[in-house]
Amino acid sequence: MEEEWKDTLRDICEVARNSLHNLVSSGTPPLPRCYQQEFILAADMLQKEDILEMVRTDEDRQAHRYRKVILRARDRMTAARNILSNFEEEAKRNIAHLDHHLGSLNVRNARVPYEAIEEIEASAKAIRDSSLGFMENISGVLAQIERQEGLLASLAQKVYEDPLTGALNRRAWERDLKEIVSGHDGTGAAHSPMVSIVIADLDFFKKVNDSYGHPVGDAVLRQFATLLKGHFAGIGSVYRYGGEEFGIILPGISGKDAVEKLEEFRNSLRKALFIAKKGQVKIKISASYGVAQWTAQQGMAEVISKADRMLYKAKEAGRDCVMFDPL
Ligand code: GH3
Ligand code: MG
Ligand code: MG
Repeated sequence: MEEEWKDTLRDICEVARNSLHNLVSSGTPPLPRCYQQEFILAADMLQKEDILEMVRTDEDRQAHRYRKVILRARDRMTAARNILSNFEEEAKRNIAHLDHHLGSLNVRNARVPYEAIEEIEASAKAIRDSSLGFMENISGVLAQIERQEGLLASLAQKVYEDPLTGALNRRAWERDLKEIVSGHDGTGAAHSPMVSIVIADLDFFKKVNDSYGHPVGDAVLRQFATLLKGHFAGIGSVYRYGGEEFGIILPGISGKDAVEKLEEFRNSLRKALFIAKKGQVKIKISASYGVAQWTAQQGMAEVISKADRMLYKAKEAGRDCVMFDPL
């Protein structure tokens, strides 16, 4: 009976998702607002740039443009580097060529006067030396371009970074969720068919701000993000979802395993003291966690709202705990 109910639920979701895709295809804006995330994912999958433009915030638009400019600059750098690399190769070939001929000139030829050989040798050596100088200059420029390419790449990455905590930001969260979904739509790279989504929220964080001030609150957020990133390094990505809320995406990890990993983190957090440098204030912090598991049959927005519901349940249950709905 329960299985039947689950199937029906899945069918309803499928119909809703298809209707949403139809809405997007016809260019109708998202109504109601709770479908916003699924709508953006759908618009992105269908590459409806005009619709995406409608739902983007000014900040998103600016970041999008900023990233485009940076990436274009990096592409130009790469093109310049390729041209210079060709020159470098050519110079190398010329030098090898000249070396070869200079070698054969040394084999004395009775019919060519000695002075003539010396003259040719001197000119060839001069050309060889200038090619060598040219090559060295190119190598220097290439190294500089490579450094600049690296800087531009990290600048482009900043668009996806939260400046306070160094965690990935909400924009990256949306990008990565979209990538997971499109990986199953035949349009992107294959992803693991199972992904766990976590939403974590610091407990009574307002109290930290009220008791110690906003800068101390900021320091706590930074330290919390560092611990979270350390704990999930190599198995998932950590995002600052909102103010004192963090998201974690764990590809290939079941909800059950995600709970286990979070319990470990929760225990380690119990022992950790947050130290805000000025005045060496030591603070104890806990967080609550909502977990949901995504598989290719589900809509991502549905899974996120499930994780959100679980987080709410964890708060209701007294905080400092993990809640997972395996349904
Ligand atoms: P709960 O356990 O129910 O989550 O309680 P809470 O106090 O954590 O929740 P509430 O939503 O009432 O307060 C969240 C606080 O987080 C309020 C806001 O000032 C603070 N906050 C959000 N973003 C930042 C930030 O960037 N820096 C600092 N210092 N505080 C922030
Ligand atoms: Mg909150
Ligand atoms: Mg909170």
